[in-house]
Amino acid sequence: MSQDFLTSLGLSGHTSGAFDGTWIQTSGAPLASDNPATGAVLGTVHDASKADYEKVMGAAHDAWLRWREVPAPVRGEYVRRIGEKLRERKDELGRIVSAECGKILQEGLGEIQECIDIADFAVGLSRQLYGLTIASERPMHHMRETWHPIGTVGIITAFNFPAAVWAWNSMLSLVCGNAHVWKPSRKTPLTAVAMTKVCAEVLEEDGFGALLGLIVGTDDEIGTTMLDDRRLPLISATGSVRMGKIVGQRVGARLGRSLLELGGNNALTVLEDADLDLAVRAIVFGAVGTAGQRCTTTRRVLVQRSIYDELLQRLVKAYGSVTIGDPLADGVLMGPLIDEGSVQAFEKAIVEAQSQGARLMCGGARHEASGDCAGGHFVQPTILATDGPIPMTQEETFAPILYVMPVDDVEDAIRIQNDVPQGLSSAIFTMNVRHAERFLSAVGSDCGIANVNIGTSGAEIGGAFGGEKDTGGGRESGSDSWKAYMRRQTSTVNWGTALPLAQGIKFGDD
Ligand code: NAD
Repeated sequence: MSQDFLTSLGLSGHTSGAFDGTWIQTSGAPLASDNPATGAVLGTVHDASKADYEKVMGAAHDAWLRWREVPAPVRGEYVRRIGEKLRERKDELGRIVSAECGKILQEGLGEIQECIDIADFAVGLSRQLYGLTIASERPMHHMRETWHPIGTVGIITAFNFPAAVWAWNSMLSLVCGNAHVWKPSRKTPLTAVAMTKVCAEVLEEDGFGALLGLIVGTDDEIGTTMLDDRRLPLISATGSVRMGKIVGQRVGARLGRSLLELGGNNALTVLEDADLDLAVRAIVFGAVGTAGQRCTTTRRVLVQRSIYDELLQRLVKAYGSVTIGDPLADGVLMGPLIDEGSVQAFEKAIVEAQSQGARLMCGGARHEASGDCAGGHFVQPTILATDGPIPMTQEETFAPILYVMPVDDVEDAIRIQNDVPQGLSSAIFTMNVRHAERFLSAVGSDCGIANVNIGTSGAEIGGAFGGEKDTGGGRESGSDSWKAYMRRQTSTVNWGTALPLAQGIKFGDD
């Protein structure tokens, strides 16, 4: 595999793990970033210390004091130029995403495109941070609602979207007038360094580089420090439900705000009137794409009984043609899992599900790759058939394991779909408008995302993204998600000569 992109992004050898407008000489333990497809070391990042964190946090705060006074459309102009830089470097950045987290190149490039898209969205938004005017009950008064920058935002990201999740947050939040301190996953630090280098270059020209602070460090030392730091009024955290529970409680204990984007357990329902060709394609992409390591991965397929056998057969056949291997190679559809721990979790989940009655239809084991990829963390995409929900179908195993089970009708499907702790994404395949609308209604899917005749994964940036219940309730990306990054101010102005009180209250001589 050519390593040119590492050299051109300045990632070969040893790299600093902290950025405060300049790259700090971090001297913590070296953290090697491995290519999950080969086991080879891509590069090494030096962990940051608490002292480094103070520099990053302090510089971000100072930059914010100036940035909040820059008019929002001018902030948008900086983000427009960041989008241009991302366009220029899309190929190299897409390659580092693929090489470091193992998703195929098409998905790596797609991830950078998502960063470009959200930058474009943020540019438009910079002229649309609309507040309200509100009719006052008092004469010669007016009320208005204004949105102001919130301060410095802490961003904690998961390994599986090592660039896009940060971009969803930081591009919107930059136009909202905030600074940022980013703690990326320790499994994908090089992508974080590369994204920061490329994007901060635009801001550095005017001394605003520290708005995109970066800190690579351990959860115990750096993560916890961020959660407890009152200079971070908002922590936006993406990752497992386990992590979200810690973040929510710890940030809540200091009455800070958290924006949580956590795990999913996404179901796709196929009714007997569905277009099965569409459904099969959507299921395979949703379940196998990113090797099942998307928060929106299709994990459960709920099939109306009359077509259960046929759909299962078609899925098993389609799984047989999934090519597994080096994610940067042409024609490969599925890359590796992120590490050996994930392979073991995959194996354990399959044994456990079988002990609960699930039947293995295909896959179920490691995939033995050869050549450069002999040291990779590959598994086979797996289908398990069940007669209904089992304890394992309540859990998110971050791997390409798909449970397929029969349902009686749309009502049964909605009930089974919703009967899990998570509530991120969901989909139904049907040509019946009544069933589709029921699925989307208040008595239908309880998820943040509910799709019709389209799979559970692959959201566009224009809509609000996120989920309910254990998924954490946060919303990022499009629609009015920007409001999470701002503080709302309600103002009443009296332009008259009297001082009438609200609710007609008389106080003293008035
Ligand atoms: P993870 O929970 O192991 O780690 C996520 C991030 O949280 C990492 O940066 C990690 O270092 C940090 N972290 C963990 N414990 C922490 C602590 N105590 N204090 C501070 N930071 C802490 O998740 P992962 O394995 O990197 O990612 C996979 C998970 O992320 C899956 O559950 C997936 O569904 C979820 N995810 C959700 C979304 C979404 O938008 N809902 C998007 C991507 C991934």
